[in-house]
Amino acid sequence: MTIRSPLSTVNIKKEQLRYIDLHTHSTCSDGTATPTNLLREASEAGLCAISLTDHDTMAGVPEALAAGEKVGIEVIPGVELSANHDGKEVHILGYGLDRFNPDLLALLTDLQLIRKERNSQILAKLAKLNIKIDRDELKASGSGLIGRPHIARILVRQKVVRSFDQAFSKYLKKDGLAYAAAAQFPASETIKIIKQARGLAVLAHPTTLDKSLKRITEDIKCLHKHGLDGIEAIYPGHSKKTCKTLFSLAEELDLVITGGSDFHGASKQGINIGGAPVMPPVPYNLLEKLKERLPLGR
Ligand code: AMP
Ligand code: ZN
Ligand code: FE
Ligand code: FE
Repeated sequence: MTIRSPLSTVNIKKEQLRYIDLHTHSTCSDGTATPTNLLREASEAGLCAISLTDHDTMAGVPEALAAGEKVGIEVIPGVELSANHDGKEVHILGYGLDRFNPDLLALLTDLQLIRKERNSQILAKLAKLNIKIDRDELKASGSGLIGRPHIARILVRQKVVRSFDQAFSKYLKKDGLAYAAAAQFPASETIKIIKQARGLAVLAHPTTLDKSLKRITEDIKCLHKHGLDGIEAIYPGHSKKTCKTLFSLAEELDLVITGGSDFHGASKQGINIGGAPVMPPVPYNLLEKLKERLPLGR
């Protein structure tokens, strides 16, 4: 039987299609599945490769590599780094990078300190609204890096809000009642460090930088000048038109294309590992192309 690939006009035999997910989070940042359980879910979903891309930490990578070996799934070491481009927050994904690189370790330490400072500011703003979250309670709510989703879950538990989404819409989103901005590194610096660590730098969810995609060419061209290697063209919510625009931009600039679900476990409803309602599955050949560009060829 042959089916039509969502990404090309070529007919491919169904049994040849192998799928991957290059954007996932675990309990080492703000996901709800441990790296081991994440790999179990990936196996149940029939994926053949994933990348663990926790926010600002690579602490989960060794466990993910070991769990991947057990279930027979290829694991690409990854990370999602918070940065700033032209006054806007951007997330830069790093793939295949050396997690022991001193410059990368220094950046991760700085990013984690910045988060601690920001979390304290959010707790102070909540306290002013008579919502008390103890610093130790927040610390105990995660096993790795702590971010806004941990605060959101506590607000739900304390019945301050009805849902995780309401915690964001009322208190934690930009312009929310308890929002605090984090200090940010310039994306150019972040890209440089990923490359020093022998990794590839990919712009995550480009539509958060520019929803209408009107300025996206300019932004991506600028990031490309700073060494950006790729763009995450396949992502939940990207329409066919958005994918197409991003694919042609990637072709024009000779950037790699990646794709991922941004799986966070139970906190992001409707997102499964490997897929979401509006998102084509991510074919394995994208990972092959990415690996061809890795300096160490992994
Ligand atoms: P932080 O890294 O602390 O800034 O938190 C960012 C994370 O919070 C994202 O990766 C999402 O997991 C989650 N998030 C951000 N905005 C929202 C939102 N409006 N609703 C639900 N979750 C969100
Ligand atoms: Zn997250
Ligand atoms: Fe992100
Ligand atoms: Fe993410």
